[in-house]
Order: sequence, then structure tokens, then C-alpha cells
Amino acid sequence: MFERAVLVHYHEIALKGRNRGRFERQLQQNLIAAVGELSTVGIERVASRLVIPVAPSLAAEMLARVSAVPGVSSASLAFVTSRDAAEMEQAAILAVREADSAARTFAIAARRSATDHAERSLEINRRLGAAVQAETGLAVNLDAPDVLCRVEVVQGEVYTYAKRVAGPGGLPVGTSGKVIALLSAGIDSPVATWRIIRRGAVAVGVHFSGRPQTDDLSERVTEEIAAVLARTGGMARLYVVPFGDLQREISLLAPPDLRILLYRRLMIRVAEAIAAEERAGALVTGESLGQVASQTLENIAAVDAAATLPVLRPLAGHDKQEIIAEARRIGTFELSTQQHTDCCTLFMPRTPETHAKVWQVEKGESDLDVDRMVSDALASLSWTDYACVSYRPPKPRPRSATL
Ligand code: ATP
Ligand code: MG
Repeated sequence: MFERAVLVHYHEIALKGRNRGRFERQLQQNLIAAVGELSTVGIERVASRLVIPVAPSLAAEMLARVSAVPGVSSASLAFVTSRDAAEMEQAAILAVREADSAARTFAIAARRSATDHAERSLEINRRLGAAVQAETGLAVNLDAPDVLCRVEVVQGEVYTYAKRVAGPGGLPVGTSGKVIALLSAGIDSPVATWRIIRRGAVAVGVHFSGRPQTDDLSERVTEEIAAVLARTGGMARLYVVPFGDLQREISLLAPPDLRILLYRRLMIRVAEAIAAEERAGALVTGESLGQVASQTLENIAAVDAAATLPVLRPLAGHDKQEIIAEARRIGTFELSTQQHTDCCTLFMPRTPETHAKVWQVEKGESDLDVDRMVSDALASLSWTDYACVSYRPPKPRPRSATL
């Protein structure tokens, strides 16, 4: 049996000019963390791709883990052979069979990264093509083959692969700084957070629950969502803030129609205080323009006025159906549709303001001791940590810990 290896391909990183080395090293570090115990011999850089040798019995699991890592454009499962002609033919036959058992056509695409190999790429294509055809009976189709088998002749060995899984693309986590993601237990914010993780940021989540005015179910759901996002290697920590008493205070002292906006402004301020501790560079929310009454341009402006950091809204231009499709793909949809109490519906007025002016919300807030409320929130938060190799926790650490 031949040795196997997962080949990791990356696009965008290769374009990064002088930063390329840093991006590749970060991707390599993230992959080492993602494959964990599946790899015993480490990761090598060979001809602008990363190569991870793997025991055949662990190959499928490794392919799945690698293809979930941001920065990976695709991952392939290769046979590793010598340049011996018979070995190369055998590997091509196995690779074509493994890729798609229902295939009717195939093509071979060879490439030489090692110039000391005498046989030219076209000659390799013809020779291996003839061998695969003779053994399998499949027809050659160069334009639209069911299976494309790539053969790469590198220094010392040959990689032959046809099984290829698309990765998420994007950039390696740890190359774009840190963000604070406002994570509700809903559908949108996990998708928004994933999008920013995919662009190379480390995400630290903040969830506001209605506790003690409600149960803690939304906290459990959000923790499960964060654990799913953590599989990408980009979710570092989730802070949970019991927010019910502060909401109650707002509902007693401020105009009812502004309640939701004032909850949001307080959430933003608490998130910014955490961002200061964490040295994060931006906040992330899951709003989509006009999706619900609170997401009009006026209301977004009224909430943003409480922020000093940039507020990233990666879903601003997305339709709900697109967001749901992505939530399913990343594995958070089922969790987000579980029963839980959304704290924003606490003390909900019958007619919330949909076109608030900044001066209105500022006036509505004038009876609130906002600084004290932020301190109260910070004093009662707890957190859970997830595996993220690029994460540096804040120093000094905030006061309490759940794990
Ligand atoms: P989601 O599906 O993310 O809950 P939504 O469609 O319910 O979003 P809103 O309720 O208007 O929209 O919330 C807008 C954004 O505000 C959310 O995407 C999230 O980023 C943030 N947010 C709302 N509620 C909370 C919460 N309880 N904890 C943390 N962030 C929240
Ligand atoms: Mg929501």
C-alpha cells in the first residue's frame, strides 16, 4: 500500500507578496492545531502547498478537519510514491477509482516541480492515461472529465490525487487581528462571526442573556454555537453577561418605545469595555439592512452612535434565505432554532421606535447611570474558553471565570 498525505492548497495567501511567509506560517500553525493527534510527523511546505502525511485509516477525518480551516482553498488526498513508472501508474489507477466510483470519464493532469525529471508532463499524461484506461475501462475526456487526476512530480517523490474537498477560502486566523462578536442565540450573528473569522480574525464572543429575569437557556445555546464556530480555530472565548436586571432598569427609567435601542446601546458599550481589555479592533453584529424593525438605517445609526470602534456588519447586504443557507452549511442553524428566550423581547413595548434620531436616544438615556450599568455588567460576566492557537487572553484577566 502507498503512503498517503493530505495536500493543502491556498490561493489568496499566495498573493500576499512580502507577507506571504507570515501567512504561510500562520496557516501551518493553525493546521497543526486542527489536525492534532491525527498527525505524528508534522507539516511540510512543498512547492507552494502544505503536505501532511497521514495514516490511511485516519485520512478521511484529517481531510474533513483540514478543509474546515480558514485560508485553505482546497484539500486533496494524495498517494505518495517514488518516480518509478509502475508505481505512478498504480497510484493513478487507485486515485481515479477512489475519487468517484460512478465516474465514466477521467483526465490526467501532470506537473513537474522538479526539473530533474526527464519525462515531460504531456508524456506522463499519456502514459498514465493509457494505464488507467486499460485497467478501469474509463474513457479519457480532457474538457470535462468526471474525475481529474493530478500528478505532481516534486523533489524526491510524486503526489497523485483525484479526491479533492473545497475549503472555506479566506485567510488564516490570526492574520487579521481580534474582534468582539455580539453573539445572540439567533441565526444571524453566528454567520456574521464566521464570516469575519474566515477573513483571518480571532473572534471573542459576548452574549447578553435575560438572566435573572429569564432562565439561562440562551446562554447554553450560545455556548453550543460558539463550540461549533470553534471548530474553525477562530473562536477564542465567549463572555456571558446576565443582562436582565439592567434591562429592567432601562424599562423603568426610559421611554418604552426606545427600550430596544437603549438595550443595544448598552450592549455596545459593554462590548467596547471588553474590547478594551481584550485589545480588540472592532465589534461584529449580525444585522441585515431592513430585516426587522430595529435594523433600519436610522436605528443602526442610533445604536452605532454609542460605539467608538468600527462595527462590522458582514450580513448587511444579505437576504435571510442566504443567511439560513450559510448557517446550515457551517452547522449552527439547528442550534439557533432551538427554543430559547431572546433577552431583547424582555419588557418589549407594543410599538418600538423604528426611525430613532440620535438625539432622541441620547435624551431617552439621560436618566440612566450608564457608566455604573457598564460596571455592573462587567462585574457579573463569566466566560468559557475554546481552543484557538492565536489567542492571547487579556492581562490582567477580568475577575471571574467559569472554566
Ligand atoms: P440574530 O439572528 O443574530 O439574533 P436578529 O435578526 O435577531 O439577529 P436583532 O435582534 O436586531 O437581529 O440583533 C441584531 C444584532 O445584535 C445581532 O445579530 C447580534 O449581533 C446583536 N445582538 C442582539 N441580541 C443579542 C444578545 N442577546 N447578545 C449578544 N448580541 C446580541
Ligand atoms: Mg436575535
